[in-house]
Amino acid sequence: MSLTLDPELRRALAERVRYCHEMGIYDFYRREPVISELTEAESETSEVLSSSLSAVSTSLASEPREGMFSSKAAATRVAGEGKLLETNSPAEYRVSDPVAALKLIREDLGNCTRCKLHQQGRKQIVFGVGNPRAELMFVGEGPGADEDTQGEPFVGRAGQLLNNMIKAMGLRREDVYIANIVKCRPPGNRTPERDECETCSPFLMRQIAAIKPKVIVALGAVAAKNLLAINASMSELRGRWYDFKPAGVRSSDTAWPGARLAVTYHPAFLLRDPRQKGEAWKDLQMVMKYLGIEPPKKSAE
Ligand code: SF4
Repeated sequence: MSLTLDPELRRALAERVRYCHEMGIYDFYRREPVISELTEAESETSEVLSSSLSAVSTSLASEPREGMFSSKAAATRVAGEGKLLETNSPAEYRVSDPVAALKLIREDLGNCTRCKLHQQGRKQIVFGVGNPRAELMFVGEGPGADEDTQGEPFVGRAGQLLNNMIKAMGLRREDVYIANIVKCRPPGNRTPERDECETCSPFLMRQIAAIKPKVIVALGAVAAKNLLAINASMSELRGRWYDFKPAGVRSSDTAWPGARLAVTYHPAFLLRDPRQKGEAWKDLQMVMKYLGIEPPKKSAE
């Protein structure tokens, strides 16, 4: 191979791989190019990029990652689509117990300063709460003032309504798992920005992969759009199922097929517009039917 990678491109690749490692993403796949569509030079460049990415990833994997991961990564190989270039897995991949896996993810998160929300008035990181083996998981947008104070998602007025919704389904709050797209309170309860969601959500993906829920309910448009990576209105997003696999990570349970995802209104929106509670109840009934939960006698208040 006569081509070598441009130093600037190699540096950019190294930075990208380092960032992915920090986010807990270790698996890199190369999509096989359609050879007939590539010129000879492009084909050679593609090979150089592949081997360079592999080399960059390997060299980064051997670097000490103090401050990024408290746990040691394990080298593994997995079968998958495309050609595996390099795999170094976060520690939770090696444990099947979701309690231990969540603990390892929390340790990796540490006193996170990865996005600007860490310096915009947060009191603490709000990791997530609930049953680590939950079949049902709720994902909201981000912590508010009460959540920031108490360190637990959905504990304010919206949390009370979510509790009522869960109860109306015939479940208890401790039966489900609750988390948010971002784990630090955006100032003034503003909507989390794209870079904040992109930086924080890999940890949520790892939590989902550890918990392996059957169903995820996205609460509100921000959660839905971030989880599904699609831009659509609530009326388009609601009322149907999506197949969901956490992006960039995998579960320790290779038999886990992923979750089904439904979208409903955020409880804070329902507090502002109670007329939509009936619509939210329809969404929850769809979830209950799928999970085989007996319809309760009373709907959410
Ligand atoms: S929002 Fe997430 S990524 Fe940003 S500082 Fe908090 S924990 Fe870290």
